[in-house]
Amino acid sequence: MTSADTPGPAEPADPVVRALLDVDGISAAPDATLAELTTLRIGGRPRALLECATAEAVIAAVRELDAAQRPVLVLGGGSNLVVAGGDLDLVVVAVRNQDLQYSDAAGDAAAAGEHLIVRAGAGLNWDDLVADTVERGYGGLECLSGIPGSVGATPVQNVGAYGVEVAQVLHRVRWYDRATGRDEWVTPDALELAYRTSVLKSTDRAVVLEVEFRLTPAGRSEPIRYAELAGRLGVEPGERADAATVRRTVLELRRGKGMVLDDDDNDTWSAGSFFTNPVIRDEVLPEVRNRVAKKLGDGPAGQMPAFAAPGGTKLSAGWLIERAGFGKGYPSSSSPARLSTKHTLALTNRGAATADDVIALARDVRDGVREAFGVELHPEPVWIGCSI
Ligand SMILES: Cc1cc2nc3c(=O)[nH]c(=O)nc-3n(C[C@H](O)[C@H](O)[C@H](O)COP(=O)(O)OP(=O)(O)OC[C@H]3O[C@@H](n4cnc5c(N)ncnc54)[C@H](O)[C@@H]3O)c2cc1C
Repeated sequence: MTSADTPGPAEPADPVVRALLDVDGISAAPDATLAELTTLRIGGRPRALLECATAEAVIAAVRELDAAQRPVLVLGGGSNLVVAGGDLDLVVVAVRNQDLQYSDAAGDAAAAGEHLIVRAGAGLNWDDLVADTVERGYGGLECLSGIPGSVGATPVQNVGAYGVEVAQVLHRVRWYDRATGRDEWVTPDALELAYRTSVLKSTDRAVVLEVEFRLTPAGRSEPIRYAELAGRLGVEPGERADAATVRRTVLELRRGKGMVLDDDDNDTWSAGSFFTNPVIRDEVLPEVRNRVAKKLGDGPAGQMPAFAAPGGTKLSAGWLIERAGFGKGYPSSSSPARLSTKHTLALTNRGAATADDVIALARDVRDGVREAFGVELHPEPVWIGCSI
């Protein structure tokens, strides 16, 4: 090792990381832990954390780290991650580019009855983008109000809420393809978006750099499909409503369920819904209903939520968890990790939980639902250095 390769006292030990600090737009956050960067507030110390302020900086960091075969974690807002404690053998690339650009004058588009396009940097806070579009009188994103995290992560798991998924409003994605090294714009079909997943989820396929969404200039929402939301708004399912009113109503509903981040509310120290709604084969549905009837009686069995979905029937994970005996706040008020007191689908950190506490609770709930009803729950977040 030459003297130029020798790290100074506060410099990262890894020469690849040190060299990246000379790139415009890249800076290091030396002592960061994942507990400080994730909404579950658990996770240990990475080898290094690189904050990347531009798309070019993100590309440079990922390209050089991949070439040197360093394990990389691409990080947005940390709101969909379960990360192991201790020393983590990975370099975190935090995506922080925040450009924002609207296509053309809204007036022209409105007059022509056309959509307009917003192009947003992957590092922009998602809900700030939603708020900005709604304030400008543009509809499209309002049902997705209050979802934590970054713009760039929204296509990763095709985020969805209150009857709308990102797939419905996504126009194009600019990504850095980690296999080919290409920086390119792709259309949504390249992402294979499906219920809470895409080709990007839990893979090293590509890094999202910018995203374009389709908006409607007249300030009208996407059609309201979610019954609870339609009821609150006083509209028939399928009707559109004023986008600003929809945003306000969605935020109210989400707050009531602990699904809007709040430093002072431990019910929001979570990764959101911890399990996806399970999709079972249609022929298995009668057996599940039988097991519900055996445990709880014919009434609940008849009322069990079940919806037609691609691949079979979608059940409600929250309903199954609660009926399997895991109520709000389970297991007890003194447990470091427990179910939210507002929503059984969120596993929460009460302040001192470790990754092991969260994982033990997740296993407990998953196994209990399987035992009670024969239904397998699958976690929604991405697991780093640990697994269920
Ligand atoms: C209180 C709460 C409520 C939630 N409600 C919802 C909800 O209603 N609907 C819903 O769908 N989700 C919900 N979530 C989950 C989460 O907010 C979303 O999945 C969000 O899109 C994650 O964004 P992030 O930037 O925090 O991603 P991170 O947690 O930082 O990363 C998640 C995954 O995406 C990858 N990733 C992040 N950025 C990029 C990028 N630029 N390019 C490539 N890969 C990337 C990461 O490597 C990781 O694998 C909720 C979470 C919380 C805490």
